[in-house]
Amino acid sequence: MTKEKNPNFDSPCPIRLLPWLGMSSIAEQLTHIREQGLWRELVATSPLGEHKIERNSKTLWNFASNDYLGLASHPAIREALIDGLSRFGHGAGASRLICGSSPAHHALEEKIAACKGTDRALLFSSGFAVAIGTIPALLGKDDVVILDKLSHACLIDAARLSGATVRVFPHNDLTKLEKILRSVREKYPSQTRILIITESVFSMDGDTAPLAEMVELKEQFGALLLVDEAHGFGVLGDTGAGLSESLGLRGKIDLQMGTLSKAAGLAGGFLAASGEIIDLLVNRARSLIYSTAPPPALAWAACRAVDLIGSAEGRTLRSDLQKKIRLLTGITKPHASPIIPLIIGSNENALQAAKNMANAGFLVPAIRYPTVPKNSARLRLSLSATHPDEAILALRDQISLLQATNFLS
Ligand SMILES: *Cc1c(COP(=O)(O)O)cnc(C)c1O
Repeated sequence: MTKEKNPNFDSPCPIRLLPWLGMSSIAEQLTHIREQGLWRELVATSPLGEHKIERNSKTLWNFASNDYLGLASHPAIREALIDGLSRFGHGAGASRLICGSSPAHHALEEKIAACKGTDRALLFSSGFAVAIGTIPALLGKDDVVILDKLSHACLIDAARLSGATVRVFPHNDLTKLEKILRSVREKYPSQTRILIITESVFSMDGDTAPLAEMVELKEQFGALLLVDEAHGFGVLGDTGAGLSESLGLRGKIDLQMGTLSKAAGLAGGFLAASGEIIDLLVNRARSLIYSTAPPPALAWAACRAVDLIGSAEGRTLRSDLQKKIRLLTGITKPHASPIIPLIIGSNENALQAAKNMANAGFLVPAIRYPTVPKNSARLRLSLSATHPDEAILALRDQISLLQATNFLS
C-alpha cells in the first residue's frame, strides 16, 4: 500500500509520534532530539517509603507517581504477593493459552468483571498490551476508529496497527465527534464497525470525558465505545470502578479498559466486556496469545488490591484523596482527579521549573512533546491519598513561587 493511499498516514492522528526526520545517522538524530529540548534519560530512583524517593543522592517528595491510593506500598498487598509466591511460584511458564492460565488469573478476572459490572474480564501483562491486543483484534481495514485527540500513545498506536481508518476529534468535542460519526455512516457500508475511543480521566490534563453524551452518540450511530480508565479505576466511583461508575454508565460501555499499575499499585492491564468480546480477544489478541502470562503471584496480589479498592478502606482512601486535592484549591482549577497539570509552554522553561522543584525537594516531572502537544510543556503533579498534608502545603508554596516568577502561563 502506498503512503498516499493509506488513510493512516494522512490522518491528523500521528500526534505524539516524532516525525521522521530523514537523519543519516543515529548520532545526528540524537543531536536533533537534544537541540529541541526533548532529551530523555533514565534516572535510578529508589523508593524510601512514605512518598519519599532518592535520586542523584538527594531525597525528594514524590509527586510524580500514579500511586493514587498509596497501594504500591500497602502491607496487605505485599502480604498477598508473598502468599501468592508460595502458592503459585513466580513464573507463569507459558502463555495463558498453553499452560500459563493460573487459578489466580481466573480469580482476578472474576473480581474485575464484578467490579466493572460486565460478564467477563481479561488480564494482560500491561495496559499497553491491552490496547495493542484489543483494538486490532476488533477492527480491520474496512472499519473506522475515532479517537479523542489527547488519547494515550498505546491507543493511537493500536488504532494504527489495526489498519482501520483513523479519525481524530478535538479533545472532548462532542459536536465534531457527531459530525465524524454522521459522515462515516453516510459514506461507509452499513456493516462497517465503528469504534469510539476515549480516556475517562485524561492522563496529562486530569480532566474527564463527557461519557454520558458519548454513550448516547455511540447508540445513535451504532458504534462501539472503548473507555480507558487507567486513571479512573480505584479513584472515582463509589466502589472505585471509575468514572463509568460515578456517572452510572457501567453497563453501557462496550469495552472498559484499565490498568493495575496505577491506583492498584501493581502491574498488569485488563479489559472488561461481554463474554462475546472476551472470547474474540482470547482467539485474536496477539499480545495475549503470544506473550507469557503475568506472574500468577502478581494476579493473586491484584485480587487483594481490587478487593481493597471496593472495600470501606478503599472508600476512605478515595475521600482522603479528595481532601488532599482540595489542599491545592486556588492553585489549580477545581477537579476530582489527582492529576494536576501546571502548563508552562516551552520545553526549556518546563525543564527549568522541574529543576527548581527538585532543588526545593520535590519530584514533579516536566512533560514535553510528544507526550503532550507542542508548546504545552508542563509540570504534571499527581497526588496520593497518603501524601502527608505538610508535604502538599510545602509544594503549594513552591507552586506560588513559580507563579510569581511567571513560569506558569
Ligand atoms: C499508563 C497508561 C496506560 C498503560 O498502562 P500500563 O499498565 O502502564 O501499561 C494506558 N492508558 C493510559 C491512559 C495510561 O495512562
